[in-house]
Amino acid sequence: MIYLDYAATTPVRKEIVDTYTKLLENYYGNSDSLHEIGRKSSKLMEQSRAMIAQLLHVGAEEILFTSCASESNNYAIKGAALHYQNRGKHIISTCAEHSSIHNSLEQLKNEFGFEITYLPINKNGIVALSDLKKALRKDTVLVSMMLVNNETGAINPIQECAEYVHKNSRAIFHMDAVQGLGKIDIPIKEVDMATFSAHKIYGLKGSAILYKAQNIELLPIISGGQQEFGLRAGTSNTPCNIVFAKTLRLALEEQKSAYEHVSKLNAYLRKEIEKIPNMVINSPNNASPFILNFSDLKIGSEVMLNALNAKGFAVSAQSTCSSKSKAISHVLLAMGLGEIRATHAVRISLSHLTTQEEIDLFIHTLKEIHDDYQTR
Ligand code: PLP
Repeated sequence: MIYLDYAATTPVRKEIVDTYTKLLENYYGNSDSLHEIGRKSSKLMEQSRAMIAQLLHVGAEEILFTSCASESNNYAIKGAALHYQNRGKHIISTCAEHSSIHNSLEQLKNEFGFEITYLPINKNGIVALSDLKKALRKDTVLVSMMLVNNETGAINPIQECAEYVHKNSRAIFHMDAVQGLGKIDIPIKEVDMATFSAHKIYGLKGSAILYKAQNIELLPIISGGQQEFGLRAGTSNTPCNIVFAKTLRLALEEQKSAYEHVSKLNAYLRKEIEKIPNMVINSPNNASPFILNFSDLKIGSEVMLNALNAKGFAVSAQSTCSSKSKAISHVLLAMGLGEIRATHAVRISLSHLTTQEEIDLFIHTLKEIHDDYQTR
């Protein structure tokens, strides 16, 4: 099988598996226990937190360990909105967010009386500062915007949006940076909170972090013990949290070379796909090169995915988290690309592991499938 679905998840690096296995064996102590075995675990976990903070250029007390980016997003959205609700009950986000943001916002609206403004995206898949300016109000408590879109790779202008929000309101700015980490530079200094996941950067599933600037307060969503500064109770997943630092370090060390490698493959793919009749590229030209979205106007997403799968290729249509819901991309629709493109979309996502040979085979197979369906 040729794997071209790295935005859904990545294989774990061998070095990470090795370190994690050793940690599981040797650092089983509860990091809150006062004895030597517990303290040993706690010490390494705090060293990991400090190293993550250093790599991201923030403070160690600003890093919270969570179980997945969906959890980090839930914490950021619900934790901040509920804590600051006395300031106002208006939240701004975008219509292209991951379901963990969208559904958290819908819950706040339906169960807690918040008002949500979803900013539109333009034909390049990003929000316009002018729309944010119009939407920002005195009672806006939170703005949440993704850095890189998981379907198209479109990169939002986080810096200018966060700057505007901070200059003109007291609202907190959260960024879902899951598809940006280890791929492009992260404007972490511009935002108050940011979400990252380990399994998108060749780390473990069930492992993520939330960056939260020190001056930001959250309502604890999981109540109980004192773990994670009293914000997220439950015995720490120490081995997982410890190995996050190594996962991040390796991803950042390889970022530049991975970006260059993937950019070349992406440019080649675009050129070759566009040569095939009835095929159109949906990702904007300046998107993250790690994601390429296209549509075969004659073959629906599901049929194409199954045909590719049968020939040994793993790709996605929309976000994997929406793969079991209706096969239409709300992101492509919001970009104004129309229903056909939105129901015929395929997402390829690339990696430093992707080879030119794999891409050539993919193009060849795509043409084969295309020709096969043309003659039916
Ligand atoms: N945010 C974005 C942009 C994503 O692409 C994903 C996963 O696909 C998530 C959040 C959720 O990540 P996790 O699987 O770690 O919950």
